[in-house]
Amino acid sequence: MPLPIVAVVGRPNVGKSTFVNRIAQANEAIVHEMRGVTRDRSYHEADWNGCDFKLIDTGGIEMGDDDAFQGSIRSQAFAGANEADVIVFLVDGKTGINADDEEVARVLRRTSKPVFLAVNKMDTPGSEDELWEFYQLGVGDPWPVSATHGHGTGDLLDAIVEELRKVEVPDVEDDPGINVAIIGRPNAGKSSLTNRMTKGDRSIVSDVAGTTRDAIDTLVEHEGKHYTIVDTAGLRRKSQIDEDVEYYGFVRAMRAIDRAQVALLVIDSTLGLTDQDQRVAGFAADRGCAMIIVLNKWDLVEGPEAKAEIRERIADRLGFVGYAPVIAISALTGKKVDRIWDAIDSAFENYSQTIPTNKLNTWLTGIRETGHTVSNGKAVLRMKYVTQTSTCPPRFTFFANRPDLVNDNYERFLENRLRESFDLTGTPVGFKFKKKD
Ligand code: GDP
Ligand code: GDP
Repeated sequence: MPLPIVAVVGRPNVGKSTFVNRIAQANEAIVHEMRGVTRDRSYHEADWNGCDFKLIDTGGIEMGDDDAFQGSIRSQAFAGANEADVIVFLVDGKTGINADDEEVARVLRRTSKPVFLAVNKMDTPGSEDELWEFYQLGVGDPWPVSATHGHGTGDLLDAIVEELRKVEVPDVEDDPGINVAIIGRPNAGKSSLTNRMTKGDRSIVSDVAGTTRDAIDTLVEHEGKHYTIVDTAGLRRKSQIDEDVEYYGFVRAMRAIDRAQVALLVIDSTLGLTDQDQRVAGFAADRGCAMIIVLNKWDLVEGPEAKAEIRERIADRLGFVGYAPVIAISALTGKKVDRIWDAIDSAFENYSQTIPTNKLNTWLTGIRETGHTVSNGKAVLRMKYVTQTSTCPPRFTFFANRPDLVNDNYERFLENRLRESFDLTGTPVGFKFKKKD
């Protein structure tokens, strides 16, 4: 199950990042700092009262320098409304309401998602009288909080978690099988690949009643197994002028990724890797889906040198999803397309596996014996034990004497060793470190 998402929206300077950091830190739960290209976005995992969720500072969502609407308040609110299960709308209790707050409120009043209006910078408890003006935003009762001092955040989290527990796992009819999203830039060959994969096998295009067409779902039976292939070709740029169309295309991709268990990132080999490919890969990785990189139009790449060079560039620029297998195909001729099915099956198997605790701890004993650890002065990190705490994708909690000593390098070291010992091809993994003396 993907984690539920809480988006924090609001105009600049109301204290979004302070708020997000407080909630994530209060639980020692910043577990997944994105590396490389996606580092600039702010995704955190947090838990409260035993409920795990993902926290997004939507101010950090970037769509590239070329996008005129980057950072626009309205887009940000849209992103929050579309992506999240619960929205926290942060305003500034010191400066009061301004036009930007009203702009955000206008968007949020139309969403069906639960919205919590948090009035930040209420540093002195008991000054609730000042909250009255915020009712006029029309998004419900204001919650006084102080992101810097922490007042009010516990009550707010209690209420948020109560909403998150209501988020329903969508009911699926029959057996939709593995949900596979086909993502990538316009013209990479997504529709061609979808056609290949759904032709010749038993397949039906499902009608999602009552919803706008985000993407086309096709239920496929291949060698007795079921798959739902989600084609996001609708991402195509329909209009150069209307920024919202492009913007919604992006949101659609994110939504397909949200539902996906396995993402096929289709790359046009003749163009090489673009920034947008990297961004989309980053999103899929953030969401924790399994991933397969499909180098399409391989029929147009001539000679071993050119082929080697493309593969090298992929390895380099998509290093942050190094766990994803790379398959070169031609959707046009059908060459090697069959290999994708096996890759999906094994990526899904690895993504949904549970590794027994005793095997993990035998592995950890081996790690301890290598003597590789982190220290700071006299303090030395000692790993005690490890257990897998969830699946899809696999997440592990390590117990250690000084979890604060764990740094990026050490985490990477652990991940690499884990991948050497267990088959985690195609799937991301999550790590948490907790204190145990
Ligand atoms: P963002 O742009 O919305 O992410 O806002 P920041 O988190 O960067 O905060 C903007 C400014 O407000 C910073 O100077 C913070 O220190 C300050 N700030 C944030 N939360 C509080 C709070 O609860 N009380 C007070 N007094 N200042 C705060
Ligand atoms: P989409 O926008 O990602 O759905 O891309 P399409 O499937 O519409 O493909 C875009 C163009 O690339 C079309 O003209 C396809 O015929 C062509 N194309 C797709 N796959 C291949 C391939 O493997 N080899 C070649 N040579 N052309 C391809």
